[in-house]
Amino acid sequence: IRQIPLLARLYSTEASLQKEDSTTDLKEAKGFKGHDMLAPFTAGWQSSDLHPLVIEKSEGSYVYDSNGRKYLDSLAGLWCTALGGSEPRLVAAATAQLNTLPFYHSFWNRTTKPSLDLAKELLESFTANKMAKAFFTNSGSEANDTQVKLVWYYNNALGRPDKKKFIARSKSYHGSTLISASLSGLPALHHKFDLPAPFVLHTDCPHYWRYHLEGETEEEFSTRLANNLEELILKEGPETVAAFIAEPVMGAGGVILPPATYFEKIQAVVKKYDILFIADEVICAFGRLGSMYGCDKYNIKPDLVSLAKALSSAYAPIGAVLVSPKVSDVIYSQSNKLGTFSHGFTYSGHPVSCAVAIEALKIYKERNIVEKVRNIAPRFQDGIKAFSDSPIIGEIRGTGLILGTEFADNKSPNDPFPSEWGVGAYFGAQCEKHGMLVRVAGDNIMMSPPFIITPEEVDELITIYGKALKETEERVK
Ligand code: PLP
Repeated sequence: IRQIPLLARLYSTEASLQKEDSTTDLKEAKGFKGHDMLAPFTAGWQSSDLHPLVIEKSEGSYVYDSNGRKYLDSLAGLWCTALGGSEPRLVAAATAQLNTLPFYHSFWNRTTKPSLDLAKELLESFTANKMAKAFFTNSGSEANDTQVKLVWYYNNALGRPDKKKFIARSKSYHGSTLISASLSGLPALHHKFDLPAPFVLHTDCPHYWRYHLEGETEEEFSTRLANNLEELILKEGPETVAAFIAEPVMGAGGVILPPATYFEKIQAVVKKYDILFIADEVICAFGRLGSMYGCDKYNIKPDLVSLAKALSSAYAPIGAVLVSPKVSDVIYSQSNKLGTFSHGFTYSGHPVSCAVAIEALKIYKERNIVEKVRNIAPRFQDGIKAFSDSPIIGEIRGTGLILGTEFADNKSPNDPFPSEWGVGAYFGAQCEKHGMLVRVAGDNIMMSPPFIITPEEVDELITIYGKALKETEERVK
């Protein structure tokens, strides 16, 4: 007889995102204040979230909480501290910039040297398709919001005012501002926020294990998805569809890798109808997949690219949009007619963030970080995938230094454990108990350790994962 696992601290956070009816939550919330911060993606009113884990210090692949407990940070913050938590060169770059010019903006043809230098570096580093310009934001969400404005401006300039719809994919994550949350294909981001915006459509999630038909090969699955995309475009009218956005490997949706021939077939459809391809590289860029960019790995030739996270190894907030000449030429000629291109943020190209990002890119190059990830990836991937036979694991999937585990009964995507069991949350809580932080989303566990993780730390990660898995198996029996 199966037992219902005890509710772990993590459980309330994740399960609350799935709740349909919030009336009981509201009752519980009456008079309850919790701590002072309205925390992102946290059910702040639930008693189990009363005591957040307060992280106070970081060192290499580890973080320490306010009680001095040490954790292996298997998610690298939020898939972002690529160089770990104590890279002195990034600190020095920030300090030097703070001492010289802590801030100046980039509006009205005024700017700073770090932002110009970073733009140049980024354009040189991206070789999958020629890129002509870099636009700076403070986050991945702002980068994706910017994409929508660029694409609309572009189509307005071309005299195609109806070509404005965006197609994204179910289970994608593109951020949490109004538009980037709309692009995201996760119901929790739409639920009770009146989203998605009406111009956003969602097509199939390319998760072969979960969605393939009986006897269908990966290639056939990709063909079917490309056909579905084409049908959707034809149904909407190609003259109304402006852009398609995709993460090379889907991150927050559960680490979902593209099936064989997927991007080749999708790109052919998109091209056929003059629809721009936007690669959301916010997680995948700078080595995460064992290639400089996800586009390199999957032979994607995007018109626009979104970057953030490892761009500065998360030491300072920064995002970027790379714009191909095809798009930027049109935008330039339009703004020559209209006057200023009226889009930007006070902190677009913030000199401190840019200085940190320049240093991060320098370190990636000097330390051959892509090769380093490629070398250590098999130890990480094979070590965790050795647990694939566990009776409570449906699928383990990953590449490079990104990996997802999905719990399921009978190894079947059609047999999820009841959500109230909190299997994933229980596993996450066991990891935490043993000194490791993982990302839990329902029964999906995600890991994306820093690029600087050592072989010994990978072994420790695998040991803790194994212990937590055994304990979870014992609870779910
Ligand atoms: N795009 C992807 C693929 C992401 O994973 C994320 C964040 O996790 C974002 C965009 C949003 O980035 P930010 O949280 O910096 O706004």
